[in-house]
Order: sequence, then structure tokens, then C-alpha cells
Amino acid sequence: MLGTILYGARDVRCEEVPEPKILKPTDAIIRLSASCICGSDLWPFRGENDTPEPKAMGHEYCGIVEAVGKAVTTVRPGQFVVGSFCLSDNTCPHCRFGFQSSCEQREFMTGAQAPLARVPLADGTLVATSELPPEDLIPSLLATSDVLGTGWYAADAARVRPGSTVVVVGDGAVGLMGVLAAKQMEAGRIIIMSRHKTRQDLALEYGATDIVAERGEAGIARIRELTANVGADSVLECVGTKESMAQALAVARPGSTIGYVGVPHGVEFDGQQLFFSQKGLMGGPAPVRRFLPHLMDLVLDRKINPGKVFDLELPLLDVAEGYRAMDERRAIKVLLRV
Ligand SMILES: [Zn+2]
Repeated sequence: MLGTILYGARDVRCEEVPEPKILKPTDAIIRLSASCICGSDLWPFRGENDTPEPKAMGHEYCGIVEAVGKAVTTVRPGQFVVGSFCLSDNTCPHCRFGFQSSCEQREFMTGAQAPLARVPLADGTLVATSELPPEDLIPSLLATSDVLGTGWYAADAARVRPGSTVVVVGDGAVGLMGVLAAKQMEAGRIIIMSRHKTRQDLALEYGATDIVAERGEAGIARIRELTANVGADSVLECVGTKESMAQALAVARPGSTIGYVGVPHGVEFDGQQLFFSQKGLMGGPAPVRRFLPHLMDLVLDRKINPGKVFDLELPLLDVAEGYRAMDERRAIKVLLRV
């Protein structure tokens, strides 16, 4: 079959790879209905994370179960399933505490930019639908696997409440999903920091009430102005750079929490500053599995349409062009037809 392998900075290829097999009794093999490229795939693509050896890419997935290992009891061949990018047993103390992304058996999904993928810890990781979903819902169901689950976690971690004033830092796919999540959580005001027309438009469609195009000091000043100099009740940091985190901290009010889901690169905190600012931080890899059944229901009931975040669709063969399109911000998020 064809699969996606990253060899190093700017060198990603679609090439012939072996089909995945059941390696452990707790594995499942799924046939993907579609796959996609994640913003976090861009870190190694840009060379900001090392790639010491060729790596099978892809960690967002949904599809039909092809085969299961002997120990798997909750899913069976023929079922449509979605799983999180974090593989978890869903039974250990951290899973039961709602932090499946810190599972004692945690592994990270790989190899899903391909027609078939192996999903370890299938019982804990996969959620099946009661029937096969209609084709037009596949992009939105795929989005629940990571990008929506991560945006949702950012809002949950930032403790968005009905009526809250929320600032979303970052207009990538996750930031836009953060807007959608905050809207579902009935935030009163959702301010997104964005300079790109197409992203601003989608943010407004997902429920943003205000757009701040300014960055740095000017952006902070604008948000202070919009919030009567108070700052935001909840901040969703969806980028992971030093600048975006500084922005998030500066616009958060005392007593607020910053949900940060952009993988930090070059971010450092000053202990005393954090102490006296009285701002909380909760982030990390999203425990998508906690939210998955609810998010899948919202999609299946057509209450949300996260799949709109895919603004470019390519065949798997053109995966390298997909990476470039996202890297150059020509596309928000790329769906791959496998
Ligand atoms: Zn666990």
C-alpha cells in the first residue's frame, strides 16, 4: 500500500510501505475513510523537531475496522470508529481521571496518512458509531480525532463557562476549533486574534464575536480596550511559540486559566511573574478520548460542522504538496483521500 514517510526537513514522501499487521492482542487494524495533515506535523517538516530516522506520519484517523486482536472486545470488524491521536487503555488511574493523554500505557498514533493503520490499545482508544455514518460527515468525524478534540480541550482546560469572555490566540485549525468549542460552551464573547481573511470568516461562522488583527503590544492593547481593561476570563493558546504564549498571558485576567495546546517551542516562564499575575495554566496533549463520544454525537446530530476547517482536499499521492500548502499557510488544513 501507499503510506507517508518523513525523511527529514522538507522531505516527506508518499511511497510503497508494508501493510500494517496485528502485533499485539490489543491491536486493531482500520481501513481509513479519510486522513489529514496536522499542524503539529509541520514541526518536524520544518526541521524544528529532529527526525533521526524515517517516520511513518499521520495520527488523525477514522474508518472501518478490518481486523482486531484476540483481546479486543469493544469493537469488531465492519464497525466505523474514531480514535484519539493519543492511544490509551481508558482504565488506568489517569484515564479514569479524564487524562487519557497521560495514560500509564500511553502511545502516540503514527502511520495514519495511509489507507490502513494499526491502532494499539483498541478497546481503550476507539469509539464506534452505532451505524455507518453518511459519507458527507466523514471530514467532521475525522476532525474529532485530534483538531476538534484539541480545540475543545483548550476551551475545557481554560474553564470556559456560559457568558465567559474568551480570547483565542491562533487562527490555525485548532484555534478555529477552539472558537467552535467556546461557542458550544456558551461563551458570551469570543475574541480571536487573526490576520487572515479566510480564517477570520470561518471564525465568525464558528461563533467568534470579535476579531483582533493586531499582534504584540498593539494586539494586547486592543484586547484590553475590548474588555474594559480587565482581560479575558479564559484564554486558549493554540500556537506554541514564545510570542503567542506572551500574548496569552498578557490578555488573561487575574484568576483566569490559559488552556494551552500549541506544543511549546522556546516558551519559558518566570516563576515570580506567574505567581503575582495569578493566572493558571492547563495544557498538554489533549485527552481527546474524554470528549470523543460527545463530539461524535454533535457531528452525527449535525449540530456542529468542524469538517469545514478542511479547505484543501488532495489524494494521498500529493501528500507533500499538502504539507507545503499548510506550511505556507495557503491551506488551513488538508484532507487526504486515501
Ligand atoms: Zn490509561
